[in-house]
Amino acid sequence: MLRKIEHLGIAVKSIEESLKTFETLLGSNCYKIEEVASEGVKTAFIQIGESKIELLEATNADSPIAKYLDKKGPGIHHIAFDVENIDAEIERLTNEGFTLIHTSPKEGADNKLIAFLHPKSTESILVELCQEKS
Ligand code: ZN
Repeated sequence: MLRKIEHLGIAVKSIEESLKTFETLLGSNCYKIEEVASEGVKTAFIQIGESKIELLEATNADSPIAKYLDKKGPGIHHIAFDVENIDAEIERLTNEGFTLIHTSPKEGADNKLIAFLHPKSTESILVELCQEKS
């Protein structure tokens, strides 16, 4: 079951340069900056009500974020939904015919297990499932 929008991921060229804009816009300060080496990204999280904004910066040229910025420039990169049981959701969505980028959960930023759906099966929206690690 998808329970709520957990966060929106926004690709930026530089967290250092963009963070202040989002902190001022949202009236809320970043509570965590974290690098996910396996994905080649640095992330910064800002809480806004029950949801979060995740800024994403590439840490190397092969990073999916570097490729995204090359193709589309900075902007909204993905929408992440909070799920109670990520394994069950991966199975449900696979059975419904969606294409998963990750067919088993992997370690994400901010204490989450995550899996991405391929945008070709989700109306061109990159969708992330995330489950809080207990
Ligand atoms: Zn995310």
